[in-house]
Amino acid sequence: MDAVALNTIFRAYDDRLAELDASASTNPYARGIAWIAGEYVPLHEARVPLVDQGFLHGYQTYDAPAVWDGQFFRLDDHIARLEASCARLRLRLPISREELKRLLAEMVAKSGLRDALAEMIVTKGIVDTRQLASDTVINNLYMFAKPYSWVMRHGMQQTTGGSAIVARTVRRVPPGAIDPTAKSLQWGDLVRAMFEAQDRGATYAMLTDGDGNLTEGPAFNILLVNDGVIYTPDRGCLKGITRECVFEIAKYSGLTVRCEVVPVDMAYHCDEIFLSSTAGGIMPITSLDGQAVNGGEVGPVTKMVMSEYWAMHYDSKYRLEVKYTD
Ligand SMILES: *Cc1c(COP(=O)(O)O)cnc(C)c1O
Repeated sequence: MDAVALNTIFRAYDDRLAELDASASTNPYARGIAWIAGEYVPLHEARVPLVDQGFLHGYQTYDAPAVWDGQFFRLDDHIARLEASCARLRLRLPISREELKRLLAEMVAKSGLRDALAEMIVTKGIVDTRQLASDTVINNLYMFAKPYSWVMRHGMQQTTGGSAIVARTVRRVPPGAIDPTAKSLQWGDLVRAMFEAQDRGATYAMLTDGDGNLTEGPAFNILLVNDGVIYTPDRGCLKGITRECVFEIAKYSGLTVRCEVVPVDMAYHCDEIFLSSTAGGIMPITSLDGQAVNGGEVGPVTKMVMSEYWAMHYDSKYRLEVKYTD
């Protein structure tokens, strides 16, 4: 797909975004909706029970699929990952996969949001702290949908690329402490890295494993391009579904992907750096630790992957239509 087509996709999104203000005057859920204990509430009025162990001791996992132009994107992949995350943490979804999909679609339909990020949060639920290892309790599910948000805004920022640092004051929590392949609301290390990025005048923080290798950042995977090969860490990070899209794009484009240990050093000598996340897609990094990457320009592989990624959103095999009533 070419740059003109990508601009068309983004221009149509901006038009839909403009309509959001109008719908907010008539629909209380247009700015976001939550589903808690079977009830729908406007997102910013939603409350969780204080004694849920998800809140008290961070016993939780979640996943976050996107809705783009009225269709879920790769919803089954997100639900499969949520189920895998739950299994790792000995949590169980309190409803069936089919019911979950039905409720998610119903919730998004009620919001009227054509472009959204939906979250499904599974917590241990209400159980005594000393009973955390019990497996009889029914786990809690919380869901919400909010207008689609961007780790890096499309348009200007994604055209010029963002500035990143490799965090020096904090490392990513080791897999031996918290399993990074189960998506988690535990952001202690990621937030510290965001502080450091801000202190050092950058926007994005990339974390290491504390041993000189890259892992990931706050809700994004890290990919490097070197001599036409894409490198991305195989451990210490979430198996991102956006990154999975990159693997597929690389495959049909004849590019090699190497998912392996990626030394930090490579980031300082590679041709291109980009980040991947459901919240924003493919995000070029053109400055690292204050030094230009690829002469400060978004590189050709990043541009190609970005266009293909958004084109994928219109491929019927990845889409599930939301049936809006209006
Ligand atoms: C969600 C997330 C990602 C990106 O995963 P996607 O499936 O591409 O959205 C990467 N790292 C962390 C820590 C995340 O929470």
